[in-house]
Amino acid sequence: MDKNKCAHPSCACAPAQGSKYCSPYCEAAKSTTELSCNCRHPGCELK
Ligand SMILES: [Zn+2]
Ligand SMILES: [Zn+2]
Repeated sequence: MDKNKCAHPSCACAPAQGSKYCSPYCEAAKSTTELSCNCRHPGCELK
C-alpha cells in the first residue's frame, strides 16, 4: 500500500500524520465502496 496516500481507494490525498486517512470523511467511508472521493481536499474533488 502506498504510505503517502489516503487509505480510501478513491482518494489521492496525503494521509494525516499518524493516520491512514486524510480526513474523518474517508475514515467513515472506508466500509463504503465509492467511485469517487468527496473529502473536499484541494486536488481531490469530484469530477
Ligand atoms: Zn480525497
Ligand atoms: Zn482521503
